Amino acid sequence: MNTCLLCDKPDETGSYLCVVCTRATEVRVQSLPALYRGLAPFLAPAGGVATVRSGKGGPAPLPVNEDILDLRGPGGVAGAAERWLADVRRDRGHTVATPTGGVEARLQAAVTGLLANMPWIAVSWPNAGYFAKDMRDLTKSLTSIIAPTPDAARGQRVGNCPAVDPSGAICGAVLRLAPGEKAIVCPWCTCSYPPYVWAQLKTWIDEDTKARGAA
Ligand SMILES: [Zn+2]
Ligand SMILES: [Zn+2]
Repeated sequence: MNTCLLCDKPDETGSYLCVVCTRATEVRVQSLPALYRGLAPFLAPAGGVATVRSGKGGPAPLPVNEDILDLRGPGGVAGAAERWLADVRRDRGHTVATPTGGVEARLQAAVTGLLANMPWIAVSWPNAGYFAKDMRDLTKSLTSIIAPTPDAARGQRVGNCPAVDPSGAICGAVLRLAPGEKAIVCPWCTCSYPPYVWAQLKTWIDEDTKARGAA
């Protein structure tokens, strides 16, 4: 009797992956396109319209998250799925197709290919364990980026931080009033907005929103 390469439990079917882990891996592979799409809103920070405004300072604006940019690029989620599919095809003696189309179409094609090969992977592929672990790690890291924190715990959304750094760039991070807090504190530039500036804060946020809409 051998053991499943993912969960290390004995498997009486003699496969590389047990039935439970095969199913779990299938679900993970299936979820990749949705996870990929779910990354989009996390790509770019808000803000970016430069206006001159005295007073509030802060560090540089929120940078584009390069990790997410990498994951969404051709070498990211889609690339990982394509590399595994190419390995499977090679080991099965099938021709390895050159991926074409946009990143999302390529990801979908690779996912479809992997799912079609899943029975063979589980039963006959010595690399099934590495593959299953990689899919588990990938979906876990994608989910950790996307998984929404309940709004109640994060507080009410106020708008985008209007603080301006010395170069004239607007911070733009999302401001929230956390439950029980007396002041709104920017999670990025740490600017603090006590209640007596909230009226002014709202004016600034509205100005920035308008400027962004016009840009
Ligand atoms: Zn297992
Ligand atoms: Zn800020």
